[in-house]
Amino acid sequence: MAEGVTKWVYAFSEGSRDMRDLLGGKGANVADMTRLGLPVPQGFTVTTAACIAYLQGGNAFPEGLEAQLDAYLAALEADAGKRLGDAADPLLVSVRSGARDSMPGMMDTILNLGLNDASVEGLAEVTGNPRFAFDSYRRFIQMYGDVVCGVDKHHFEAALSALKDQREVASDVDLTGDDLRGLTDTFKAIFQEHRGETFPQGAREQLYGAVRAVFESWENRRAYDYRRLHGIPHDLGTAVNVQRMVFGNTGERSGTGVAFTRDNATGESGKPFGDFLMNAQGEDVVAGIRTPRPLAELADVLPGAFAELMDTMGLLERTYRDMQDVEFTIEDGRLYMLQTRNGKRGALARVRIAVDMVDEGLVTEDEALRNLVDPASVPQLLLPQLDRVGVKMAGLDPLATGVNASPGAATGRIVLTADAAEREGQAGEDVILVREETTPDDLHGMIAARGIMTARGGKTSHAAVVAVGMGRPAVCGVDALQISGDTVTVGNATFAVGDVITIDGTSGNVYAGAAPVTQPDPFNPYLVRVLEWADRARVLRIRANADTPEDARRAREFGAEGIGLCRTEHMFFASERVPLVQAMILSDDDDERARLLALLRPFQVDDFTGIFREMRGLPVTIRLLDPPLHEFLPGLLELSLTKAENERNGVRNPELDAQLARVLALHEENPMLGTRGVRLGLEFPEIIRMQAGAIMEAAVAVRDETGEAPLVEIMIPLVAFEQELRRARQIVVAEVEQVLAMSEGAPIEYRVGTMIELPRAALTSAQIAREAEFFSFGTNDLTQTTLGFSRDDAEKGFLGTYLRQNLLASNPFETLDVDGVGCLIRMAAEGARPVRPDIKLGICGEHGGDPASIGFCHDVGLHYVSCSPFRVQVARIAAGQAALRGAHGAGAAA
Ligand code: PEP
Ligand code: MG
Repeated sequence: MAEGVTKWVYAFSEGSRDMRDLLGGKGANVADMTRLGLPVPQGFTVTTAACIAYLQGGNAFPEGLEAQLDAYLAALEADAGKRLGDAADPLLVSVRSGARDSMPGMMDTILNLGLNDASVEGLAEVTGNPRFAFDSYRRFIQMYGDVVCGVDKHHFEAALSALKDQREVASDVDLTGDDLRGLTDTFKAIFQEHRGETFPQGAREQLYGAVRAVFESWENRRAYDYRRLHGIPHDLGTAVNVQRMVFGNTGERSGTGVAFTRDNATGESGKPFGDFLMNAQGEDVVAGIRTPRPLAELADVLPGAFAELMDTMGLLERTYRDMQDVEFTIEDGRLYMLQTRNGKRGALARVRIAVDMVDEGLVTEDEALRNLVDPASVPQLLLPQLDRVGVKMAGLDPLATGVNASPGAATGRIVLTADAAEREGQAGEDVILVREETTPDDLHGMIAARGIMTARGGKTSHAAVVAVGMGRPAVCGVDALQISGDTVTVGNATFAVGDVITIDGTSGNVYAGAAPVTQPDPFNPYLVRVLEWADRARVLRIRANADTPEDARRAREFGAEGIGLCRTEHMFFASERVPLVQAMILSDDDDERARLLALLRPFQVDDFTGIFREMRGLPVTIRLLDPPLHEFLPGLLELSLTKAENERNGVRNPELDAQLARVLALHEENPMLGTRGVRLGLEFPEIIRMQAGAIMEAAVAVRDETGEAPLVEIMIPLVAFEQELRRARQIVVAEVEQVLAMSEGAPIEYRVGTMIELPRAALTSAQIAREAEFFSFGTNDLTQTTLGFSRDDAEKGFLGTYLRQNLLASNPFETLDVDGVGCLIRMAAEGARPVRPDIKLGICGEHGGDPASIGFCHDVGLHYVSCSPFRVQVARIAAGQAALRGAHGAGAAA
């Protein structure tokens, strides 16, 4: 290689497991398997850096790539003793994508490259197997035509189906060599018809074209959607693996398959499972086109290869210390390993595998927590499951049974296209995407659907694996399913688009209508073990956002160590209270407002009492009223329309007129930036008084009832200025002291603090801290105000475009914008600590339940995160992982 030229290509023998970023997961692992001495066909990997350089360079090979491809190909040819495209005895290669993070089926792959009109004859001659040679060639023309040259694969598939019909055979394995020879001619004609040129015969031209196409497939829609779904950055690129072909389609002693070292739905160990097909090539299994056979049957067909495969899978699991998903091919009885990667698995399997691997002595608890557990998948453990007893009692029989491809039950209306699933799913409909086969092209529909049902495809088909990874229930390979136009037949039942069905991805059963479901056990024993490891490791405390005693109880059951945010305005959403709150806000008469507040106070005392009771011994942060006015006022538009209607009909309604006048007077163009939080409280101090009094009255009641004083934290929202906080705090303290003075008994500790949710508050935290015993970062508003993105509107508007166009890597309302909002948080913490070294710091925006954001909170040394009750377990695990990755507060001064 010339000096100064980047190395774009690595032979498998040059790579290793730690080179995932550069070689992609597939490339790094085949290199590793090569080192382990496993039977891996030789090859080389073009780096992810080459892909990025290609895409950024206007789809041109970067300097040096072509020469390096030629050199590595020459070495591969020398090693094999064959030449690519040779007319007598050709070398054939596969060209396969493989990014750092595995993205099953999202990008492109081409097999049998190197075949042309001459070399196919040579291959037929040298193998003595013309059927195999032409089977390989027709596959290559189709894949190359589709992937590299944009000739839709359906044209080829239609021709194959027509030929099978003509020969009256069910499967392509029943076609003869002559049939396949004829089919290659048909395929070449299809190619010429759609491309206006003959099928490319030059082997090098084929190779360069395939490498380009794989690079470009990084940018196709499904790859993009998949990355968004799994938080994979868009700027990593894919590597390309060029590997000597071995053939699963040479006859009855050949085959190909995919296998998992453990059951990826249940996590059960000692039960490797998978799918295989005899006399087939890899794509037949994973593309969901043919429904394959279960791996266990391979033991009868080819016992030697099966035993070797089992040993190899055991070795790989021990080497990678994780469940593996392998791809293998058997050529004339001889096993070859094509790929190994950490297997996708459902949430249940994930926790079980982690615990089992610890118990098997394969990994330590810390290692399992760090590498085998994914906090984001924990909510899937709460997915509904089919209620078997309820189903029995209702006398529901399954219409059909397919492959239980991804666990969980789902009920919804039938849709037949991914686009329809996306459209209706986004409109809030529960839909089940029903398809012939599982193809990754449907990813956007799978994301939007509640569940997926297909007629063909097995458990290891790409789409099934993807469904498992995202926790979407799926039933595949339902033989009894037929789709014809807008009609779906399942066994004896017929449905139209829009009819409701239930699928049970745990058993593979399909039911008409809505079948009963149950909530699974949130205290799954495997999850409980994982949570124990996390609790031992973590430094961050976990609180919950809870507005009612029921939420508080649930949060505590999930392990919350206090309440970080009780939104008191949510308590007013109950139907009997809304009119009182509305009237109170609309009132322009102080006495009337006082009267209404007095009516509201008992409700508040009751709520607070219930919450303090549930949270005995733990801190409870209650936030004073923070209603953006538009959420509580009668609608201006509605009132105006009624008034106009009244006028038209000559009806007089002075009450409505007065209400409209008041609503108009209070109307704000930007209510999110309007009379909220502390501003409302300072406008109407009697609201603060009522709430502070009610909080303390409840605290006293619970102390007297239980003998234990609650740990009360009163929080003032939307503060920008120290002066605002000082004034509000004075009002709170005066009221609290008054209530306490009237009660006897043990003292009740309380703190007064503030939310930091405006940039000015963060910037002046040293001043604000003088008045605040604690800060809680309200990152919903802090994100809104720092970015100038309306939290009500951005997500349905331009933010979607930004995410699609990769201008932003993630939604800043879900995952903290560390560089911007995070910078303010860090500054605010740094500014406050010298003024008040014991200041308590937490976060209570939605980010408090997001694993990546929790990692940030740990790094900057916050004391706790607060999230919704259902995310408490997620947060415990994420906090544990963060602690294993770095010291608490290590990023504080960064
Ligand atoms: C916040 O702004 O982050 C917050 C928790 O308050 P709310 O969502 O109620 O505005
Ligand atoms: Mg807020």
